[in-house]
Amino acid sequence: MRIIETISEMRKVQKEWRENGESIGLVPTMGYLHEGHLSLIAEAKKRCSKVVMSLFVNPLQFGPTEDFERYPRDMERDSQLANESGVDIIFAPSVAEMYPHKMKTTVVVSEITDTLCGASRPGHFDGVATVVSKLFHIVQPDFAFFGQKDAQQVAVIKQMVDDLNMPLEIIPCPIVREPDGLAKSSRNVYLSEEARKQAVVLSRSLKQAEADYQQGLQPGEIKERAMSLIKTQPLADIDYVELLTYPSLKPLEKFNGQPFILALAVRFGDTRLIDNKIFS
Ligand code: AMP
Repeated sequence: MRIIETISEMRKVQKEWRENGESIGLVPTMGYLHEGHLSLIAEAKKRCSKVVMSLFVNPLQFGPTEDFERYPRDMERDSQLANESGVDIIFAPSVAEMYPHKMKTTVVVSEITDTLCGASRPGHFDGVATVVSKLFHIVQPDFAFFGQKDAQQVAVIKQMVDDLNMPLEIIPCPIVREPDGLAKSSRNVYLSEEARKQAVVLSRSLKQAEADYQQGLQPGEIKERAMSLIKTQPLADIDYVELLTYPSLKPLEKFNGQPFILALAVRFGDTRLIDNKIFS
């Protein structure tokens, strides 16, 4: 496995691979790897002969009061895990390499970014769409792998690829969880012992919603019951609990056979966790 830090070197390698008829998979990450990331790598290995994992904590997608500076980083451990998982190249550019001057171009995906994390984190998805678009142009993958844990991100990236005719396929991968149900996240390390215990309420509320849906409850009731369950945990501070169509992310008053998502964002102290379940 090689670690590449420059765009020119990454382009050189991808050109050689292309000439040799390799298929290229890209797994974009911000590092501090856990089994969620590793599941994307495993899926990429199944479908592609070469796998690039990008590792870049993208300042464009963090708001001014968010955790860009303190976002957990551990390059040594990440390279060991990536190597063991069969990654061919870690593409880990510096901020100066990716953004040598102030960007005058931004990729903006409209409408589906007006809700959920797009509403709570203004500009977040502009930063995501812009950096992912740059990564797609640099690595030129055939496939790119994203976790359903960030379901709105998957919808945004798919929309961008479709709208702009980008020549690759997006592969969404299932959410990987801890044994007690908490979705794996690099941010889980911020949680205090007590918050970690209480955070299990997120996956429990999704399970409850599943049972509620089977019982024939309506969207409004399911959402209310999920909120009430989350509120039983004293440290939980709800950012949003939304039941929307998926992937169009429109309000849903009555079930009509369309796929939908129950999406949650909840703060525990200064740690904001997200989780979701897609019903299709
Ligand atoms: P991040 O490093 O948090 O930006 O995540 C990089 C990729 O890993 C994104 O596509 C995430 O959706 C995905 N991911 C993060 N956590 C999980 C998880 N628990 N299960 C599956 N995919 C995940």
